[in-house]
Amino acid sequence: MRLVMFGAPGSGKGTQAERLSTKYNIPQISTGEIFRSLKRGEQIPGMTLSKDVVDEISNIINSGALVPDELTISVLKNRISLPDCKNGFILDGFPRTINQGEVLDKMLSEEGTKIDGVLEINVSDEAIIKRLSGRRTCPACGKTYHITDKLPTEADKEACPEHCANLIQRDDDKEEVIRKRLATYHEVTAKLKPYYEAQGKLVTANGKEKLEDTIAEVDAAMSKIEQ
Ligand code: ADP
Repeated sequence: MRLVMFGAPGSGKGTQAERLSTKYNIPQISTGEIFRSLKRGEQIPGMTLSKDVVDEISNIINSGALVPDELTISVLKNRISLPDCKNGFILDGFPRTINQGEVLDKMLSEEGTKIDGVLEINVSDEAIIKRLSGRRTCPACGKTYHITDKLPTEADKEACPEHCANLIQRDDDKEEVIRKRLATYHEVTAKLKPYYEAQGKLVTANGKEKLEDTIAEVDAAMSKIEQ
């Protein structure tokens, strides 16, 4: 299964992508998380990015704008060429521009594969602003939590002993940056919706306040892609 998660920042794509990754046993690929791992000083296997480029990425992310397509596409291309993506993947945060979407389709068709479905998670801007201000991230491994309904489990703490002890608010989860990220989403990324609708690939789940209600919506939407 090759799945694209689609929706505004903070719509809950990442949480659902993580769950679906376990369910379908395919990796979750978050370009945002790859960029943040660079900020933490990690390198991308098979790519060498200079400190200047990493600093530039950090500045762009902290402003709420998009990282340039050329760089983002090469990072994504490199990631999906790894062996764990052979049987599929879940893209979380890519594509975010029409150009990225077109390049992705071309890249996959050259390999004789394609995107099987695009799962949109639909949440209002007001709900997102409320939700993102409660989001917390582990600075060691990048996993995200929420102060009201998603704290680290025992398994999480075992996998990353720094969990819980030291959750932080991401620099770009501050309200003025959230507003800019939402504006970028509506002005640029939302144009991908008609692109995927025209391909007949888009299914929509309504993001709900309670996690279990969103899961029910997502599973119902996914059953249309699985058929
Ligand atoms: P969210 O979906 O909550 O905004 P992400 O972790 O997906 O968070 O992305 C964080 C930031 O990383 C984005 O605001 C953007 O600056 C950058 N980024 C991530 N994915 C892309 C992409 N496909 N194209 C351009 N920039 C990206």
